[in-house]
Amino acid sequence: MPGESVSTSTDTDHATAGAGVPYREVTADDYARDFTREAQALSVDDDTTVLSGSCPRCGCSFTFTYRPRAFRGPRRGPRVREIAVMCTCTTEHEGRPADEEGCGAYWNVRLEDL
Ligand SMILES: [Zn+2]
Ligand SMILES: [Zn+2]
Repeated sequence: MPGESVSTSTDTDHATAGAGVPYREVTADDYARDFTREAQALSVDDDTTVLSGSCPRCGCSFTFTYRPRAFRGPRRGPRVREIAVMCTCTTEHEGRPADEEGCGAYWNVRLEDL
């Protein structure tokens, strides 16, 4: 439809960061890539890994402690471990449930990429 459709919306998609990002549980393919580009993995001990970086969605920095619950016996073969990371920043994101943290973004990270 040609004619009068000039967008007057003020609510366009400019990339806001930090508190301007509403809480939403989402994931995207580039989250892992963006995160691993700068994040650091610090091995605390054999089973605990602390990931330190900034959230690809809201841009806040956070640390995520990964500690596998299950004991899986002896490791074999290549150690490719993929872990689910979620944003745990302390910034208040609009609409976040009281018992949640972060902005709701989550993604999978391969420890070997860090
Ligand atoms: Zn976030
Ligand atoms: Zn945040």
